[in-house]
Amino acid sequence: MHCTAFRRLEYKTQVFVNHEGDLFRTRLTHSIEVAQIARSIARNLQLSEDLIEAIALAHDLGHTPFGHAGQDALNECARPWGGFEHNLQSLRVVDELEQRYAAFDGLNLSFETREGILKHCSPAQARQLGEVGERFLNQRRPSLEAQVANLADEIAYNNHDVDDGLRSGLIELAQLQSIELFERHCHDVLQRYPGLAGRRLVHETIRRMIDELVTDLVDETRRRVAEAGVRSIDEVRAAPPLAGFSPAVAERSAQLKRFLYTNLYRHPRVTEVMEHARNIVRDLFGRYLAEPALLPDEHRQRIDAIGERAIVDYIAGMTDRFALREHRRLFGASDGSARIPA
Ligand code: MG
Repeated sequence: MHCTAFRRLEYKTQVFVNHEGDLFRTRLTHSIEVAQIARSIARNLQLSEDLIEAIALAHDLGHTPFGHAGQDALNECARPWGGFEHNLQSLRVVDELEQRYAAFDGLNLSFETREGILKHCSPAQARQLGEVGERFLNQRRPSLEAQVANLADEIAYNNHDVDDGLRSGLIELAQLQSIELFERHCHDVLQRYPGLAGRRLVHETIRRMIDELVTDLVDETRRRVAEAGVRSIDEVRAAPPLAGFSPAVAERSAQLKRFLYTNLYRHPRVTEVMEHARNIVRDLFGRYLAEPALLPDEHRQRIDAIGERAIVDYIAGMTDRFALREHRRLFGASDGSARIPA
């Protein structure tokens, strides 16, 4: 929580760019919500709350500005130099990029936390990552805390994106009535509180949705752990994934996710802004590549040491508003960036 990358999350987009309003989730509040959900599950399953909290708080540290649009653009730009992937970047932040200690780069995190941060990676990448990469080559699972943190992420964003989507007016309550997970709880709330509407109805519904998902995850995970008969972390690593939803709830969660993808993440108002965001990242990358002198000294010197990856790291670390300011500095305000007010 004390590192620079964590504070930057406050000004990084989750779904909505930060100017859309002060009440929408940012990567910071998203990470805190993931941590809280993860801790509740961990407490119920008697897992390590400290470990799961560390994984949850760190899981998005490698995100670029402008959410997935920013990551896609940076990945395209970085393709000749190995591409960009936010999950790998989160590990890179805690292992290499944070500068806090006299004796070493990065933070002083345990193997278990680092393993939990690295949710996925290709075999080629795994071979370069040492001990945290091994499980991807040996087909082994991470700790239960890592498995649960990953699902807590999904529970958090599915639910808070419903809330943010409704608040923004991009989706409407009526549309959500086709989504089983939402409709059933919304119906229950209205049975109990006839005439309830607006924010209270949304919150009462969403908290029940979260409760259903968390309770199901706890029950199903406990059942699988008992069934597999695992008694040690080595047995957890060798077993099939033990943390999970029951099949019925997994399908309900997937249905909600598909709904959000189609109706919110692909909403024209979101995609339009994201297209401009992509251009900003592309413009910045192209300009720094052509004129490294435009980079701050520290980052220009890193190009000599590690090559173009230094530009990727610099852009990945930017907040939305810093990227916008930097774009305006280098290109003026006559382009698409003016359409995303900082
Ligand atoms: Mg996340």
